[in-house]
Amino acid sequence: MVVGNLRTARVIVDEQAIYDNIDAEVKRLDKGTELFAVVKADAYGHGMVPVARVAKAAGASGFCVALLDEALGLRQAKFTEPILVLGITDPECSALAASGHISLTVGSKAWLVQAKAVMTKEVQLRPLAVHLAIDSGMGRIGFTEISEFLKAVHFMQENPDYFEFEGVFTHFATADEADNTYFDKQVTKFNAYVDALADRPRYVHVSNSATSLWHAACNGNLVRFGVALYGLNPSGRGIEDLPYPLKPALSIETELTFCKKIHAGDSVSYGATYTAEQDEFIGTIPIGYADGWLRRLQGFHVLIDGQFCEMVGRVCMDQFMVRLPQAYPTGTKVTLVGQNQDQTISLQDVADYSNTIHYELACILTPRLPRVYR
Ligand code: PLP
Repeated sequence: MVVGNLRTARVIVDEQAIYDNIDAEVKRLDKGTELFAVVKADAYGHGMVPVARVAKAAGASGFCVALLDEALGLRQAKFTEPILVLGITDPECSALAASGHISLTVGSKAWLVQAKAVMTKEVQLRPLAVHLAIDSGMGRIGFTEISEFLKAVHFMQENPDYFEFEGVFTHFATADEADNTYFDKQVTKFNAYVDALADRPRYVHVSNSATSLWHAACNGNLVRFGVALYGLNPSGRGIEDLPYPLKPALSIETELTFCKKIHAGDSVSYGATYTAEQDEFIGTIPIGYADGWLRRLQGFHVLIDGQFCEMVGRVCMDQFMVRLPQAYPTGTKVTLVGQNQDQTISLQDVADYSNTIHYELACILTPRLPRVYR
């Protein structure tokens, strides 16, 4: 993927904001509870390695990712902390994970049996650290029967050269909602699995950002801290009450590449969906849907000179147009997300307009937009 290092558009990541968010969370945790920074999906679009560096400095003792490739990327960048892959990895890769001291999520005994067959071929066998996932109600991955869960635990205990039972966890479907009914059911289910164990593994964990911020959920000792470390409220606008202010880390900025006067009756962009009713100034912005700035944002706004300017006409692949209150020189700063003079556009504002969540918007910003760290 080509990175547009020579373009005038960039994603700006505020490292201090990330540091402060993690630092505030670490300081709230019970003694003995660790925070793993969730840096999957290129750290929710913020850049995996730079974010992991800041997270570590701020007190994260490990990392969570979704893919084994992401975990290996962290190892290549010389991170030696524990790493947990949250998704299901191909058992064929079990020996590779073990050799990199990378912990894997497992949701069935069948997976362990397959992995053992693969690892048997290894000359230098190293036990694979395993976190068993419990599906307490998310309906995604993990054990749904305690008896099956215990069979997997016993299989690992019978094969200590192959496996180390390092953790047990679950994931909540509604931790970001004010109504606790479903959440409480999940807690009860998960606790039944933990109670069935003769010995607890090193890590018992249930908390994503929302759980850690708003629920004293269970007696776990690890928080998988994701979206809040980027300064984004896990509930969107659902729960505004936060134990400390979250500082958004991501801005998107660029510059006007073109400015012109159009006349009443003139149209703008593909499909000529916008037609000026009077003479007006139109500015061109060098970002488009190929950067992750969605086509359905037509009609939304950007900030120029501290003023909201409407996006007129369809968003193109690499550019879109805005209506300007006056002529501005090319090179004038344009803020798509972030602060511009006294005004701000948050990722949540963009999410509201485009009918999605800020998580998705951050993740879909493509690598073509260079990340700049401040
Ligand atoms: N744990 C698991 C299993 C996840 O899938 C995720 C994110 O999708 C997280 C933790 C982090 O969640 P959040 O970003 O809401 O903190």
